[in-house]
Amino acid sequence: MLNIAIDGHVGSGKSTLSKGIAKKLNLRVLDTGAIYRGIACRFKAEGLENHIDEGTINKFVEKLKVQVEFDGDLQRVIVDGVDYTPWLRKEETSVLTSKISPFPKIRDKVLDIQRDFAKKYDCVIEGRDIGTVVLPNADVKFFITASEKVRAQRRYDQIKNLPDSPSYDEILKDLRMRDYQDEHRKIAPLKPAEDSIIMDTSEMTLEQTIEKCVQIIQETRKEKSC
Ligand code: C5P
Repeated sequence: MLNIAIDGHVGSGKSTLSKGIAKKLNLRVLDTGAIYRGIACRFKAEGLENHIDEGTINKFVEKLKVQVEFDGDLQRVIVDGVDYTPWLRKEETSVLTSKISPFPKIRDKVLDIQRDFAKKYDCVIEGRDIGTVVLPNADVKFFITASEKVRAQRRYDQIKNLPDSPSYDEILKDLRMRDYQDEHRKIAPLKPAEDSIIMDTSEMTLEQTIEKCVQIIQETRKEKSC
C-alpha cells in the first residue's frame, strides 16, 4: 500500500492539493476534516452546541454512526443516517468543528475510519495529525503552510461572490482562531511530524506544488518499490 499524509494549517490548500496529487497518481483521497465537520453538524442537530463538555461529548459519541461514501470525486459524510454533506463547509460548522475536535472520544471515532481507509487503498489522507498520530508510518508526509495573509486572501477569492460571504478581515480572524485551537490542543495538536517535508506555498502556484509533491512521491516509490 502507498499511504501519503498531508497535514497543514487552515486554508493552506491541503484539500485541493490532495485531489491534484491523487488524480496524477491514481490514488484515493480521504478528507478527514470533512469527517470532523459531519460530526459537528450532528452535534448541532442534536441541540448540543451550547454544551461542549467531556460528559456530553462522551455520551454523544457512544452510539454515533459515521459513514463516509464517495460519489465520484465528492466525499459524502453521513452521520446517524443523515447526509450532512451540504452543510460541511459552512462557516458556523468550521467554528464548532474546531471546538469539538480536541475531545479524545471524537478523535478515537475518526481514527478507526482513517486507519481502515489507509489499509484498504493506496491513498492520500489529509488533515492535522495524519503524519504524527494517524499514520506514523506513512510513506511520504507533507506539511503544507502559507502565510496567514496569503491563506486568508485565497479563501476570500474563493467565496467573495457567494451570498453572505464573510469579509477578508473576518476570514483572517477566523483562520487565526482555528489555527490557534488546532496548534494548542493537548491531544494530537497540529504540528509537522519529525519526518515531514514542510512546504510553504506562499510563493507557489497550486500546479507547482502538485508537481513538486508528485515528484517526491515518485522518487520515494522507486526507492521503496511501493
Ligand atoms: O481541514 P478542515 O478545515 O476541513 O478541518 C476542520 C477542523 O477539523 C479543523 O479546524 C480541526 O479542528 C479539525 N480537524 C482535526 N484533525 C484532522 C482534520 C481536521 O482536528 N485530522
